[in-house]
Amino acid sequence: MNIQAIIKNAVKRLEIEGKLLTPDFYAEAFCKEASKAGFTTEDCTHLEKFTATLNKEFQNELKKYHIKSMPELTRFLVSKLNRTNPSHCSNLLESQTQFTKRVLQVVEMLHNKEATELSKRSTELLSRETTVAEIDQYRQLWVNFTNTYDDTFLQKLKTFGDIDSRDLKKSIQNLRLDGYEKASGSSDFSIIASLLVSSFVPSIASSVNDKIAQISQKIQDNPALLEDTTIESEIKSAISLRIALDKQSVKEMIESIDGVLDKLSLRLIEMIESSDSSTVEIQKIKKELESYNESSDINFSIAHKKLYTIAVALEENTQALTRDLKKHNSEVGALSKKIEYLEHELERAKEESKEDFLTKLYNKRAIDEFINNKDAEFQRYGRNFAVVFFDLDYFKTVNDTYGHDAGDAVLLAFAKILKNEARSVDIVGRFGGEEFIAILGETDIEGGVIFAEKVRKKVKNARFMYKDSRIEVTVSCGVSDRKSNFSLQSLLKTADEFLYKAKKDGRDRVVSK
Ligand code: GH3
Ligand code: MG
Ligand code: MG
Repeated sequence: MNIQAIIKNAVKRLEIEGKLLTPDFYAEAFCKEASKAGFTTEDCTHLEKFTATLNKEFQNELKKYHIKSMPELTRFLVSKLNRTNPSHCSNLLESQTQFTKRVLQVVEMLHNKEATELSKRSTELLSRETTVAEIDQYRQLWVNFTNTYDDTFLQKLKTFGDIDSRDLKKSIQNLRLDGYEKASGSSDFSIIASLLVSSFVPSIASSVNDKIAQISQKIQDNPALLEDTTIESEIKSAISLRIALDKQSVKEMIESIDGVLDKLSLRLIEMIESSDSSTVEIQKIKKELESYNESSDINFSIAHKKLYTIAVALEENTQALTRDLKKHNSEVGALSKKIEYLEHELERAKEESKEDFLTKLYNKRAIDEFINNKDAEFQRYGRNFAVVFFDLDYFKTVNDTYGHDAGDAVLLAFAKILKNEARSVDIVGRFGGEEFIAILGETDIEGGVIFAEKVRKKVKNARFMYKDSRIEVTVSCGVSDRKSNFSLQSLLKTADEFLYKAKKDGRDRVVSK
C-alpha cells in the first residue's frame, strides 16, 4: 500500500467514526491506518517516546485523560504547570522558618549559656534577609556546639544523690541537700507550711483528727516537702478531712438545737393543753424568741444556752402545772365521791319517802305499809276497813287536749278534793298515774260507798280550770271492805274489779257489788 492509499483510508476512517477533519483527528487516523498497513512513521511514535520519559504517576494521568497526540500532551503539560501554585514553596519555607524559631526559643530555655546565645543569634538571622552562605555558617556553629558540649559537670553532684542526665529536674529532686535547703530556701517554705498547717485545723469541729495532726507535723518538720508533688494528695485528703469534720460538727450542733427545739415545742403543746395561764407563758417565750432574731449572728453556744434555759423554764412550769392539776384532780375526785354518796343518800331518802312528789298524798309504798297494818289490825282485833279505788275518766284525753301540765293540775286538784273529803284518820294516797286509793278505818262497804259518792259528786261539780279552759272531769270508783274478803289480796282485787265494772258501765259512778 502506498502513502496515497493510507491517506485515503485515514479520511475514510474519520468519516466512519463521525469525526471532523481536524489536524489532530487526521494525525490520529493516519497513524492508525499506517500501522495497519505495516508502516511506522516517526511522527506516530513521538508520543510514546515522550510518555516513557515521564514518571508513572504522570503516565497514569495521561491514560486517564486519553492523551493520544503530541499537541494534547503539550496542552496537558501546560495546564499542569499553570495549576501549580507559585506561592506553595514560599509558604512551606515560611512555616519551616517559624517552626525553627520556636525550636530555638525552647533551646534558649534550657539553661545553657552557649546554646542560649547561639539560639538568640539564629532567631535573629531567621528574622531578616539572609543568604544561603550565612545560613550555612550558622549551621556550622550549631555543629560545633554539639561537638564540644560536655555534661560531665553533672557528675560532681553524684555525691548528693542519683543523677540522671536525661532528667535534670528529677535528679535535683533526688539530691540530699537538707542542710543546704534549711540554710537557703527553708524560710519561704516554713511560712507557707505554717499557713497550710493552720488551715488544716477545723474551724468548727473541736477535735483535730489524728490524720490531720500527722500531716501537719510532717509538714512542720520538713517544710521543703511542699516542693514534692507526692505530698499533694496527702494535703488534699487532709483538707477534705477537715471539711468533713467541720460538716459533722455543724450537723451535730444542728441536731442538738433540734433536740432542744423538739423539747421546747413538746412543752409548749403540753402547756397549751393543760393550762389556762398558758397565753401569758407563751407571750414570755415569744418575747424571748424575738430577742434571738435581733441578734442574727448569735453565737451557737449562746443560742443553745438560751434555748436550753427556755426548755428548762418550760419544764419547771409544766411540772408546776402538773402538780396543780394533780392536786385539782384529787379535789375533784373527793368531790365526785361526795356527790356519789349524796346521790346514794337521795336515792335512799326517796325510797324511804312516803310522799307522792306531785300531790303530796301518800305514795304507793306508804299505802302498802298502811294497808298491811290495817290488815294486821283486822286479823288481830277484827277491825274492819274499806278500800276505795279511784280512777279519773278519760284522763288521757285531758293530757292530749290540754297538755301534760293541765293533766298535772287536774291531778293536784283531785288530790285536794280527796284530802278534804277524807277524815283525818283516813289514809288517802296516789297509787300511780291517775289512780288513787282511800283506806277508811272502821268502815264497811256502805260507808265506803258514801265516801266515794261524795268524792265523785264533788269532782263532777268542781270547776277544773287550766288557764282559760274549763276541764270536765269525772271519776269512777270501786269499793269493797276487808270483812267481805278472805284476804287482803282478794280485797284489793275485788275493789279493782268493781272499778273496772264502773268504767264498763259508763264511768262517773261508784260500784261496790
Ligand atoms: P279511763 O277512763 O279508761 O281510765 O281512761 P284513761 O284515759 O283515764 O285511762 P288510761 O289508763 O288509758 O290513761 C291514763 C293516763 O293518765 C295516761 C297518762 O298519760 C296519764 N297520767 C298518768 N300519770 C300522770 C301524771 O302524773 N300526770 C299527768 N298529767 N298525766 C298522768
Ligand atoms: Mg287508769
Ligand atoms: Mg282513767
